[in-house]
Amino acid sequence: MYDLVVLGGGSAGFAAAIKASELGAKVVIVNAGLPPGGTCVNVGCVPTKFLVKAAEALRWVHAYFPEANLKPSLRRLLAEAAETSARLRKEKYVDLLDYYGIEYIEGRGVLAGQGEGGG
Ligand SMILES: Cc1cc2nc3c(=O)[nH]c(=O)nc-3n(C[C@H](O)[C@H](O)[C@H](O)COP(=O)(O)OP(=O)(O)OC[C@H]3O[C@@H](n4cnc5c(N)ncnc54)[C@H](O)[C@@H]3O)c2cc1C
Repeated sequence: MYDLVVLGGGSAGFAAAIKASELGAKVVIVNAGLPPGGTCVNVGCVPTKFLVKAAEALRWVHAYFPEANLKPSLRRLLAEAAETSARLRKEKYVDLLDYYGIEYIEGRGVLAGQGEGGG
């Protein structure tokens, strides 16, 4: 039995689960779709900021060191963006499940009607 079932393991779901856990609730996150962390760490804020920063750095070098013969590797850039997402997903989300004693279930949650479900 849980005090709180959080549907969705994105940043909002984790914030709610952590707060409830801090207050002493027994919490489970039910998540499907993206991996733990949801949009921000996996496909949103983190990878996009990584790529934007890289593009800015490249533009800066082109502007001030035009003689530099840069050959940027998009493949390597995307791999590093993915590594950064994976590291932050672990540090900021997955590792916190154990730390706060939050259970995690992979699957799509459904809001059943009153008195339904729970079987
Ligand atoms: C390209 C991009 C860049 C962004 N950059 C920034 C930024 O720089 N700064 C910023 O503040 N915000 C940014 N955002 C917005 C930010 O990513 C979102 O505001 C944030 O991720 C929302 O978090 P969330 O937990 O509400 O939803 P999500 O992160 O989308 O997580 C919800 C999760 O719940 C799952 N789910 C949904 N329904 C169910 C269900 N019934 N059962 C189980 N699982 C379910 C979904 O599959 C998903 O994995 C960006 C977004 C994008 C797309």
